[in-house]
Amino acid sequence: MRFFDSHCHLDDRAYDKDLALVANRAKRAGVVKIMIVGIDMKSSVKAVKIAESTPGFYASVGVHPHDSKECSDNAINYLKDLSENAKVKAWGEIGLDFNRMFSPIEEQEKWFIRQLETADELGLPIIFHERGSNGRFFEILKDYKKDEIKGTLHCFSGTRKELEISLDLGLHIGITGILTISNRGEDLKNMIPIIPDDRLLIETDAPYLTPAPEKNHTRRNEPAFVKSVFLKLAEIKKEDHAVLAEKIFENTCRLFNINAL
Ligand SMILES: [Zn+2]
Ligand SMILES: [Zn+2]
Repeated sequence: MRFFDSHCHLDDRAYDKDLALVANRAKRAGVVKIMIVGIDMKSSVKAVKIAESTPGFYASVGVHPHDSKECSDNAINYLKDLSENAKVKAWGEIGLDFNRMFSPIEEQEKWFIRQLETADELGLPIIFHERGSNGRFFEILKDYKKDEIKGTLHCFSGTRKELEISLDLGLHIGITGILTISNRGEDLKNMIPIIPDDRLLIETDAPYLTPAPEKNHTRRNEPAFVKSVFLKLAEIKKEDHAVLAEKIFENTCRLFNINAL
């Protein structure tokens, strides 16, 4: 079986000392493709640099809602130039996060909309982040987009209604290790059956959200552990492992315009 970790932050300082070992363990676990997601200018540059150094690694560029207070036209223009690199396959992560409120609402909304326009202009698929925006995220998407959106709502942790809206909008749904955590993953587990197979993605969101099986021996998550997310998913869906793994791998490649071979 082969896997695609559709969302991780290998540019994080947590991997500065042993990135090569982390990459090797991923490969050995069958995680042959990895999307490294930018959250600001600095991390996007680093993500592209890491992607360039390793076959099967890709990058996205963008400004996270948490960092929108530091965003500027210059930053967007810089990232636009960076996106011309052949390893850049998506724009993101962008969206709204009213949960932690690291940036004021007005700034978050302004740069979310601006980056929707930029991704559109560049024809790049989008990686979305949404937390506690009380429907604002979906309102903006619906207002902005008239047709289907090519993108993924990463680390889905919303309600059933929000899942239905996301699917209507054409979004893919990113499933993290939250699914493996007994109480916290219960709601998500119950919603898995309504996600069509061709919209499912798996991700680690590493270094965060370490899946339950690995949590016993390490705090830091890494792409190799996306296999645990997959195994939980396959158990819930009661589907043939090899068939489901390949479907999810191909979904990810299709979304990011990456050759699945
Ligand atoms: Zn996120
Ligand atoms: Zn992320």
